[in-house]
Amino acid sequence: MALGEELVPKFWINILPSLPKALPKPIKPDGPVVKPNELERIFAGELVRQEFSSEERIKIPEYVRDIYIELGRPTPLLRARMLESFLHTPARIFFKYEGAMPTGSHKINTAIPQAYYNSIEGIERVVTETGAGQWGSALSLAGALVGVKVRVFMVRVSYYQKPYRRTLMQVYGAEVYPSPSELTEFGSSLLREYPENPGSLGIAISEAIEDVLRAEKSRYCLGSVLNHVLLHQTVIGQEAKVQLELLGEHPDVIIGCVGGGSNFAGLAYPFIVDKLLGKRSTRFIAAEPKAVPSLTSGDYRYDYGDTAGLTPLIKMLTLGHNYKIPPIHAGGLRYHGAAPTLSLLVKEGLINPVAYPQKKVFEAGILFAKLEGILPAPESAHAIKAVIDEAIRARKEGTKETILFNLSGHGLLDLKSYEDYLGGKTKSVDKTFY
Ligand SMILES: *Cc1c(COP(=O)(O)O)cnc(C)c1O
Repeated sequence: MALGEELVPKFWINILPSLPKALPKPIKPDGPVVKPNELERIFAGELVRQEFSSEERIKIPEYVRDIYIELGRPTPLLRARMLESFLHTPARIFFKYEGAMPTGSHKINTAIPQAYYNSIEGIERVVTETGAGQWGSALSLAGALVGVKVRVFMVRVSYYQKPYRRTLMQVYGAEVYPSPSELTEFGSSLLREYPENPGSLGIAISEAIEDVLRAEKSRYCLGSVLNHVLLHQTVIGQEAKVQLELLGEHPDVIIGCVGGGSNFAGLAYPFIVDKLLGKRSTRFIAAEPKAVPSLTSGDYRYDYGDTAGLTPLIKMLTLGHNYKIPPIHAGGLRYHGAAPTLSLLVKEGLINPVAYPQKKVFEAGILFAKLEGILPAPESAHAIKAVIDEAIRARKEGTKETILFNLSGHGLLDLKSYEDYLGGKTKSVDKTFY
């Protein structure tokens, strides 16, 4: 669809005031509620304000909206007709293609406002961690555009084994350190103990926060889970709504994959608000890996947001911050919990979670590539597996439904994972775990 920039929303949609129950507040390990101003040494002030905001919509700064347009928003809404006919389904399948954004995923939608608010608050450097590098490369590009320095702690094994996104970050001018690094005391202590330490996201977060606390004009940025991150992603669903309306369509089923929950929420929340108001009876399906089943098998309780236990406790569906996450290919879905708002909506029965084993997901991804041309990121292929199951169900029931899903990213920098799958090397991690 070639539709113009007027489709790019002027506001983000905040789910907080529409939730069926109040969202439990973050607390400290010894019990008291965390006050917003206590977070301002870590995050930009405006981002903290958005995190707790009760406004229904929050204005997108014009500068940010202009960059969204410059980089390619609105993203295309495409129809997967070949997949429909292959499955002999009466359902119509549409998807939002976030892989069309320059760093190849939806993550740039929040990276830009995060870098922007930091820059106007006089922050000179933003610091973050990254695993496979999708979030790190998005923030690196955002920093380059807005004029803020970017420092990324990249999990050491990924730094050496997945060099392409590391190079992309460096192209955009970011400083990238393999974590654990010599740059922080925590990293140095780990390297002294064991120089071959492969690192983990938990260690990288600890280093990023230590680094931020050491420099007055540094702040930390996070790529998923938090309310303000999900808020920024709602441009996806708002665009999709108008694009579908122009085609005379309205979705009956909405599907996305879930790591921390941001791409799912970005597509789904603008539609869920309508469902909560009783306007629509849309169904929502959140697809996750069977190896990291926080939505389908997690407990709804207070837990640390990170592996190291440095963050406040947040109430969410979690497998426990110590959960040993198997080394599945969908690196972006390797998170022990899920966003607090998404967890609450699953708990209240408004979103149905499903979990798939890795091999089924690759099968779905490859089928999609052969039929539609786009090779999905292994993360996004989880959503595609759910789409296929729903389309087959619609065939059996003979219902002419409209299915909408989020193709959160392309898989062109994940070819190694597909190579392993084709070469039979993809482990049945799920069988050993279940
Ligand atoms: C990071 C990532 C995800 C998972 O993160 P969410 O916050 O759950 O969206 C999914 N798909 C892609 C392509 C990603 O880069």
